[in-house]
Parts: sequence; structure tokens; C-alpha cells
Amino acid sequence: MALDTATAQQALRTVRYPGFSRDIVSFGLVKGIEVSAEGKAVVGLSVTTADPEIPKKLYAEVEAALLQAGFIAPEIALTVTVPKTSPTAAQVVTGPTSEAGVGKVKAIIAIASGKGGVGKSTASVNLAVALARILSDRGKPGKVGLMDCDIYGPSVPLMLGVRGRPQIEGDVLLPPENFGVKTISMGLLIDEDAPVIWRGPMIMKTISQFASNVRWGELDVLLVDLPPGTGDAQLSIAQSMALAGAVIVTTPQTAAVTVALRGAAMFGKVNVPILGVIENMSYFEDDQGRRQYLFGQGGGQKVAAQLDAEFLGEIPLDANVRQGGDYGIPVVISHPDSPSGRAFHALGLRLLQLLGQ
Ligand code: ADP
Repeated sequence: MALDTATAQQALRTVRYPGFSRDIVSFGLVKGIEVSAEGKAVVGLSVTTADPEIPKKLYAEVEAALLQAGFIAPEIALTVTVPKTSPTAAQVVTGPTSEAGVGKVKAIIAIASGKGGVGKSTASVNLAVALARILSDRGKPGKVGLMDCDIYGPSVPLMLGVRGRPQIEGDVLLPPENFGVKTISMGLLIDEDAPVIWRGPMIMKTISQFASNVRWGELDVLLVDLPPGTGDAQLSIAQSMALAGAVIVTTPQTAAVTVALRGAAMFGKVNVPILGVIENMSYFEDDQGRRQYLFGQGGGQKVAAQLDAEFLGEIPLDANVRQGGDYGIPVVISHPDSPSGRAFHALGLRLLQLLGQ
């Protein structure tokens, strides 16, 4: 086999990111490969992690893979970036112009769930609007953003009542705003019925542009609605932004609880603190005011206890919540005094407290 960059890349493809199924090449960690005429390989790697074991493991495995492929004395230049983890950590990515990007965002929070359909987007939208109202009442309007990273089923624009293409200035996107929340979503950039069949790197590119090419401006909080699941795409996003923390959304069901725990373990790997757990669809209140626990009870508390994180609260199953999503008027706006409207408001207050805001 020829000792060239293609062979070196092939060898690197056999190395997986520790704990994950994806290889370091498709993960984007390999920044450069050079091979000299006599078969000496020089490889540049870049990794974002606070876990000192990961660079060590990667170094050893990359070296072994290159040696096995026949390269002599491989040289590995490994750059390690440690993500900021304090709750008030600001994002460090700067955009193509000083006005774009998340450089002026005080806290970036990921909203995650282990699986789809638990109401993660619904919770993200209502929490964002609740935060915007709270901050606006404090004399700080327009300080909340919501980045929809669900590339395959972006539902945030519909739920937030935002339509039309965002304005573009040069290569900077201006996020449209509704109910005091600035937002960007794949749903605003593609036609509703266009299939979004993109490969992983393309998704990552889009997400990194959501962080760097959107004029978010000065925000107190930017919520990042992660795609459901706990795979490599989610991990990449968690790594690509300096997250102040993550909030896990689950339902009381055992199945949802198990996957929520898996999701949380992912944040542990990249040293992002779990700020808390929201339990959605906790109960249904019938005509007589009796609570029916359709999906079981205590799942959210259980996840929080196991993660040693705070249980932030429960959101009832409520037709107004669903309708709010379908009609683009979130329940915190349409029914602020309903149990679910109040619950989201309380969640917003607590989140700001946790962020020291
Ligand atoms: P995910 O983002 O986790 O896939 P969604 O936020 O899209 O989930 O919610 C899935 C569906 O459940 C939506 O139709 C939404 O309106 C509905 N839904 C979410 N939370 C509630 C709730 N508390 N009460 C009633 N319907 C809800």
C-alpha cells in the first residue's frame, strides 16, 4: 500500500473518539495530514475536552494506527481546547464580522432529551418566551435567543410563530424575533417539503454557522434546542459551543427516563454541567381537578436524583400547550395563568437564578 495521505487518512478512520462509535476523521478532529517521501506522517488533531484522558488515548491510538499502516516515526500535533464550564461562561466563538456570532452571549444553555417526542422543542420555545418576558419586565428586552439545531424536524419556527426567510447582510444572518425571542432554524432556510438528507459534516457546518454567522447581539441567555438523541451529532454540538450547562427534558415514563440518563452521560463526557431536569407531560388534570398520571409518576425526579442535578419542575399535559405549538402562540403568551403557563414562568425564574442572573 502506498504511504500517502490517503492511506494515512484511512488509518485514522479506524480510530474512534473515546466512548463513541464515530471515527475521528468524520468527527472533524483531523486538521491536517502530511506524508514525506520516505513515509513519515505528520498529523494535526484538534479536540475540545476537559477530560485529560481523551487526548492521551487519542494520541496513543493514532500513533498505533499510523505505525500499523507502515508509517515511520509518526508525529502528532494535538491541540486541546478546554471548554468553559462556569454557568456564566461566555461563548468564545467569534463570527466573520465582530457583529455576528455568540461572543456577546452571557450564557448558552443546551436543551436536550434522549429521544424525540418528549416535548423538548415545546419546552425550549416556552422557556425562551418565559425568559424573554421575565427579562423584559426587568427592563431588559430582546435578550433571549433560541437556536434550533434540529436539522431533520425543525419545529421551532412554527411553535414560535416565525415565518419567512431571515434577512441576510453579507454573510451574516439576522435572526427574526417573535415574543421577544430571536431565533434561527433550518426551518427558516429550507422549504417545508424539501427533504433534508444531509450528511453529518454538513449538519455540523450548518450548526457552526448558526453560532458564527448569525447576528445574535448581546443576549443574556441563548437556548440551544439540540436534536433528540445522544449520538455523535449531539456530542459535536455540545463540543462546538462553550455551553454554560444543559437542561434535560424527559417524560415520567421509564423508557424516556432511561434514554434521558444516556443523554446526560453524554454531557458528562464533554464536562458540561447539567443544570437541571424538566419533566414534561407529568399529569393531566381532569374536569374535576383530579390529576391523572397517564405516563407514570416520578420519572423526572428519578433522573434528577441519579444525575445529582436539580429537579426544575413539571409541566402538565395540556391541550393549550399543544395548540400553542400548532398555532405559533406559546402557552406562556396565550394562557400565562394556566398551570403550564405558570410552570414555564417558574422554570425561567429558576434558570436565571442558577445562572446568577
Ligand atoms: P420533541 O421536541 O421532544 O420531539 P415536541 O416539542 O415537538 O417534542 O412535542 C411533541 C408533541 O407533543 C407536539 O405536538 C407538542 O405540541 C406536544 N406537547 C409537548 N408538550 C406538551 C404538553 N405539556 N401538553 C400537551 N402537548 C404537548
